[in-house]
Amino acid sequence: MPDVFADLVGQDEAVVELRRAAAAAAAVLRAGAADRAPAPRTADPAESADADADADASSGVDPSAGMTHAWIFTGPPGSGRSVAARAFAAALQCVHGTGCGECPGCRTTMGGTHADVRLVVPEGLSIGVGEMRALVLRAASTPSGGRWQVVVIEDADRLTEAAGNALLKAIEEPPPRTVFLLCAPSTHPDDISVTIRSRCRVVPLRQPPADAVAEVLARRDGIAPDVAQWAAAAAQGHVGRARRLARDPEARKRREAVLAVPRRLTGVGAAFDAASALIEAAEAEAEASVTDADTTERAALETALGAGGTGRGASGAIRGAAGQLKELEKRQKSRATRAQRDALDRALVDLAGFYRDALTMALRAPVAPVHTDTAALAGAGAQKWDAEGSLRRLEAVLACRAAIEANVKPRIAVEAMMLALWKG
Ligand SMILES: [Zn+2]
Repeated sequence: MPDVFADLVGQDEAVVELRRAAAAAAAVLRAGAADRAPAPRTADPAESADADADADASSGVDPSAGMTHAWIFTGPPGSGRSVAARAFAAALQCVHGTGCGECPGCRTTMGGTHADVRLVVPEGLSIGVGEMRALVLRAASTPSGGRWQVVVIEDADRLTEAAGNALLKAIEEPPPRTVFLLCAPSTHPDDISVTIRSRCRVVPLRQPPADAVAEVLARRDGIAPDVAQWAAAAAQGHVGRARRLARDPEARKRREAVLAVPRRLTGVGAAFDAASALIEAAEAEAEASVTDADTTERAALETALGAGGTGRGASGAIRGAAGQLKELEKRQKSRATRAQRDALDRALVDLAGFYRDALTMALRAPVAPVHTDTAALAGAGAQKWDAEGSLRRLEAVLACRAAIEANVKPRIAVEAMMLALWKG
């Protein structure tokens, strides 16, 4: 297995910072016997330098790279927030260095089986307070491997307010060996509360350049270089999406259908048809992605609850079972809604890429197109609409994304967008 940071594409600065922090964390472990646990750190680099100074002085580790108890990884979707958080978790558990990829600490963390690394991947639209409280409680226990208790929270922007407060309490008074790694699109107050943000060190990730994405697809996934190059450009820096486009014919077909939208917009009726098609495609894609999981979960729960109990306590058990099934259905519905939104958002990002290409062509900007395969069509659009018309259309797509994000019903938002795209 290569180094744990190998899959973090195009994020050299972040990797340097995380390695230094992992080295500092190892120094803390070396310096501190059980009674010399590190004091809670703050997000202020100057203060954390002071706090780390004595622990690190003897080991020669740069004190300003000191260990911190709470981190936020930010960056656009697909930039590798959760990849970075998991790799850093492995680096903290690494027994040989700062993420060698070979030792048991690295291997079990990357494989998802390390006893002291907990990963929260929200399946629904939000992470609830119950889940967070249980997590915080477990995170406070002494690490069984003698290093760190690491909690990775993907999509921390989906914390409910109550869950955020439960987490905040833990971050404010962190158990000495517990580290929280949060992932969020940005540190905007809409994504992460100001108070949590103020106690975390932020690791900003950037949209990885297409060349770096193509390189990793070719090296790690064995994808032919020309396909990798095309997929990396089409995915606009989203590593996971690039891999899917390169490998999954269904994903390519869906993308082609989305990119056919601009030339189909020939009138009002066609605009509404295109809106329906886009919504239904997103629903179908989402359903395909969650159906198997839904069925498996329900069967597992029914087995666990046992069918048709009798005797003393059975009626209570049945009431409890009904409650659990209802809870499961609620969770599954929430997951399905999220999968639909994600699928629709991917389609909108593809569409935005098309109008972005038209805009850059109208401006004769010397940049490569996002969608090489529809570049000619975007060029024709650029001639017809000019820069201003292309920009208005690009803005219509972005406004649609923003509206859905703000909970406007997807169909309404998409219809409005299609009409705007048609009229210009
Ligand atoms: Zn290791």
